[in-house]
Amino acid sequence: MLPDLPFDPSHILVDGQWRATPETLPLFDPSTGAPLARIARGRASDIDAAVRAARATFSGPWGALSATDRGRKLSHLGQLVLEHADTLTTLEALDVGKPLRQARADVLALARYLEFYGGAADKLHGQTIPYLPGYTVYTLRDPQGVTGHIVPWNYPMQIIGRSVGAALAMGNACVLKPAEDACLTALCFAALAQLAGLPDGALNVVPGLGAEAGAALAAHPGIDHISFTGSVATGAAVQIAAGANVIPVTLELGGKSPQLVFEDADLDAALPFLVNAGLQNAGQTCSAASRILVQRSVYDAVASRMAAAYRAKVVGPALEDPDIGPLISARQKARVAAFLTQGADLPLLAQSPLPEGLPPGHYLAPTLLGPVPPDHPLAQQEIFGPVQVIIPFDSEAEALAIANGTDYGLVAGVWTRDGARQMRLARALKAGQVFINNYGAGGGVELPFGGTGKSGHGREKGFEALYGFSTLRTVAAHHG
Ligand code: NAD
Repeated sequence: MLPDLPFDPSHILVDGQWRATPETLPLFDPSTGAPLARIARGRASDIDAAVRAARATFSGPWGALSATDRGRKLSHLGQLVLEHADTLTTLEALDVGKPLRQARADVLALARYLEFYGGAADKLHGQTIPYLPGYTVYTLRDPQGVTGHIVPWNYPMQIIGRSVGAALAMGNACVLKPAEDACLTALCFAALAQLAGLPDGALNVVPGLGAEAGAALAAHPGIDHISFTGSVATGAAVQIAAGANVIPVTLELGGKSPQLVFEDADLDAALPFLVNAGLQNAGQTCSAASRILVQRSVYDAVASRMAAAYRAKVVGPALEDPDIGPLISARQKARVAAFLTQGADLPLLAQSPLPEGLPPGHYLAPTLLGPVPPDHPLAQQEIFGPVQVIIPFDSEAEALAIANGTDYGLVAGVWTRDGARQMRLARALKAGQVFINNYGAGGGVELPFGGTGKSGHGREKGFEALYGFSTLRTVAAHHG
């Protein structure tokens, strides 16, 4: 049962108007499998209307605002997010199956993105460049125009915050295509943006199917930048579509991120990060630490302590605020289960218990496997579920080779007290972010984020996102 909402979940928001679409799509509660709402089935024509509305306000009221006023509106929007934190938390828990504590953390992260980008809007300066005698040369950082944002279902609020928040702060007008599996907080965010006084068309939201609304947005000739977060296959298709229009693409794709545990590590400090970074959001996290690489001399200690932590985890419906909720859908559960079948030959270290009497949601017992050979498919492919593999290693060189030995390169963690090793590995690991003696601590709104290899390219979060959503103009004035 949804809480009272300041919008109709079956509508799209285009040019400040909430509109119905001829057809709708069902949305289900992953915790119970029950129908939750009907959402709009946006089509290419809706995307086209949204792009035109965004262009109009970019060339009009939104484009005319000073950077300071844009920033104030975003900061105000951040305040409204906090004021509506209970509603947003409940919506995300119902829509994604995310335990309440984690859903609330996502609300706070969204507010923090808006606070950060609201404050940054008027702090991105150009440069003056020494040039020939008689010249003054400087650079201007301009918005790109209309930016498209295609987001997945696993962290809607955080991804909207880092991507739409930065694009708006830079002065772009946005068209957002949320995921068909979870889009309620995207719509709520849009309703709050209206309350915050964003001009009509500055933020348009068109839910719909990926192959329809998503593909139409990626291919639209009126878009100046596409930010895509999702799977590798879809990201590649989006990049090809955007390539026809010769526009920049930011791809935030998947990962098979490792944490490396050396024998001199503080295991007490490491343990919660080793487990929670794998199981948070039921493992449906792009930066999930799905591979734990452990020096052989401490393998047994780490494996037994992680196994004990797994056995203590509580699985349940999101609204009961368990440690781990359901997977997003029956499809995702089947996909993860197929991986587990493939790994049936691997040693099972532990599974979290599934309590009796769970409602008919998409629950799957969190599973810890080890020792796992580094070339096993479960140690190579992104599972996107509550499954971690432990891989033993003997030397730093071997650990590095294993860590870098997948197609991905998103995040890595290193646990060691050896300062020189920390510095060596921070440079050598294939990853867009390296955490030393922590993993993803504090959320990291300020910290540039993105991948290498099949994890994608481009950076979001922090100031880097503002560079990504802007274009640089060089002015060379000859004055003699
Ligand atoms: P997905 O690629 O199926 O869908 C993501 C979004 O793309 C959805 O909004 C979907 O509707 C849309 N889409 C689908 N087909 C499309 C098409 N042909 N053209 C345009 N858009 C289309 O991914 P998913 O299953 O929803 O998400 C899981 C994947 O996302 C995982 O691989 C995960 O690692 C990745 N992910 C990455 C990050 C990151 O920041 N790197 C964050 C979250 C999720």
